[in-house]
Amino acid sequence: MSSTVTKPRGRHFFANPGPTNIPDSVLRAIDRPSIDFHDPDFREVYDACFEGVKRVLRTEHRLFMYTGSGHGAWEASLSNLLSPGDTILLLESGYFSDEWAKMAKALKVEVRAVAADWRHGVDIAAVKAALAEDATHAIKAVCVVHNETATGMFIPIPEVRAAIDATGHPALLLVDTISSLGSLDFRMDEWKIDTVVGGSQKGLMLPTGLSFTAVSPKGMAAHEHAKLGRYYFDWTVMLARNPQSFVGTIPVNFFYGLKESLRLLEEEGLSNVFARHHRLGEAVRRAVQVWAGNNGPQLFCTNPGRYSDSVTAVMMPEGHDAEAIRRTTRHRFNVSLGGGLGKLGGKVFRIGHLGDLNEPMVLGALSAVEMALRMNDVPHGKGGVDAAMDYLAEA
Ligand code: PLP
Repeated sequence: MSSTVTKPRGRHFFANPGPTNIPDSVLRAIDRPSIDFHDPDFREVYDACFEGVKRVLRTEHRLFMYTGSGHGAWEASLSNLLSPGDTILLLESGYFSDEWAKMAKALKVEVRAVAADWRHGVDIAAVKAALAEDATHAIKAVCVVHNETATGMFIPIPEVRAAIDATGHPALLLVDTISSLGSLDFRMDEWKIDTVVGGSQKGLMLPTGLSFTAVSPKGMAAHEHAKLGRYYFDWTVMLARNPQSFVGTIPVNFFYGLKESLRLLEEEGLSNVFARHHRLGEAVRRAVQVWAGNNGPQLFCTNPGRYSDSVTAVMMPEGHDAEAIRRTTRHRFNVSLGGGLGKLGGKVFRIGHLGDLNEPMVLGALSAVEMALRMNDVPHGKGGVDAAMDYLAEA
């Protein structure tokens, strides 16, 4: 009998930026028998979830939920607000802004992009200039991915809001909060966002498959005139399904899980949740900054004011394959990292530090990466994990 262990033992360490770790109590909550979605016991859970998600979004506005991943909510946001031939201004941030743009084009919406260097991030002055130039107000919506999961960079939404306000442009503001909600500070109403796009599988610590949009009164007014084709995602159809505002069978088990994940977030307190994400994100960055020595891997994001506290993309030195590092961490140490997306494939790996995570889990993932760098003969500065520990011990 061979003594070679082919399958790594021990807990699977999940350091992906989504889906994320699902807390045991959320798994237990989902694991229950089916219940009629008209049953008053379920209604209570369903209503509590709507109220809870609205508190996390910091909004008093309408919320629509869908069985579907984030792509579904993206499509809902565009199809409910726009008509064929309408123009949107899309702030380039990376792979996910590109994908949202592709979807808009497929829906026959014209996309005007504010181009950006993926490593440095979009210039808000360029957003303001694009709006100021649009004297005829052809732009119907400004679309922003709050936290670009592919690059590990966020865009400051209050600054985008200020740029729109400064020009007096009437465009709607649409924000994708898929990898920021429940991880980074987010305030729909205070930031005057007209439509938020969110999903279940990141900061909300649930499986993939539930997504949602929250919509301001200005957004609802625009919806009345929006002519893009839609049905499952149609807010008017949903509202007509009163009281449940949901088209089709409601995924009941999901809502039991969501109620528990909201309870966990609120038990910890949102400001503590954000502080924990900042601490863990900063620990990862400190490690990478040490590895960057000796011409090693470096932070993909070169704009310290926009470092994401939910995911860090690490760029490999020229001639070294990020996938080799992911293979080593996965097969040798049972640690799953995110890969590079689109044009960053093979160049970048991503460490997710959002959701149900604590210090030892992050340090475990960092240790696996540091070992993988050695094992793959990737030049790097030694002591990244020590730097992360030094920081966490003081933070
Ligand atoms: N937007 C962002 C910022 C994302 O990170 C993702 C997925 O990771 C999406 C949109 C697409 O969501 P989904 O994969 O759930 O369809």
